[in-house]
Amino acid sequence: MLFRRKTKTGDSVEEVEKLKKLLNAKSEMVSIGAHQVRTSLSAIKWIIKMFLDGDLGKLTAEQENLLRKAYDGNDKAINLVSEILLVNKSEEVVEKKYTFSKSNIIEMIEGVIFDFSGESLWRGIEIILLKPKDKVPEIEIDKEKILVVLQNLIENAIKYSKYHGKIFVSVKTEKENIEISIKDAGIGISEDSKTKIFEKFYRTENAQKKEAMGSGIGLYTTKDIVEKHGGKIWFESKENEGTTFFVSLPISK
Ligand code: ADP
Repeated sequence: MLFRRKTKTGDSVEEVEKLKKLLNAKSEMVSIGAHQVRTSLSAIKWIIKMFLDGDLGKLTAEQENLLRKAYDGNDKAINLVSEILLVNKSEEVVEKKYTFSKSNIIEMIEGVIFDFSGESLWRGIEIILLKPKDKVPEIEIDKEKILVVLQNLIENAIKYSKYHGKIFVSVKTEKENIEISIKDAGIGISEDSKTKIFEKFYRTENAQKKEAMGSGIGLYTTKDIVEKHGGKIWFESKENEGTTFFVSLPISK
């Protein structure tokens, strides 16, 4: 008699494998499709921008008004597609295997700050990295996943900051761990929302008002990655005053 291997939920292992393959194929299709749509939308964006900048001759007020609406609508669509790509990637990241190697966390943070320099400049925000005097030891991490953590936390600090805000990123060695903190002076998180902040798809009302685009998946993914490293994530926040996220990661596995 042939015994079918069962998982905890009672499904056969073969069925789970089949489902996983299907989900991977779906995720790949979403990714390819969304990238193609975003490329086309970006091309449209630059064509409209050329008209609006007057590169193709002067526009009448009516033409300009209509093109500006088209530009804004197109921009919203680009943001939406970018969010779909992010959610898709986050789900892939949660599922993926972890590969640990010794990495220089300061260099990684500097890289992420550099990647967001355009976005922060555009929003009038300054990001200051406070490095400790002593050399920070290399830590054993999955570099690709910790980059997602740093990107999510720094991007959130920028998104939920007020115009002309300052963001402080600090790194310190605490016994066997490296502690990273990201402090903003933004909209903050209300007492009621504090317990729900790491839930999948959760977004505060204030955040939705400030930034229409968002998925509520970034912090869920971030927590999952940090915990798979044996680390911890927590935050302190006051509504309308600002938020500090802390991540503590063990130096060696
Ligand atoms: P998203 O930013 O796409 O909404 P996240 O999962 O990254 O999703 O964050 C979940 C929610 O946590 C946000 O919608 C916001 O309400 C809150 N949040 C995260 N970071 C901050 C921050 N630095 N300041 C204020 N609120 C924040």
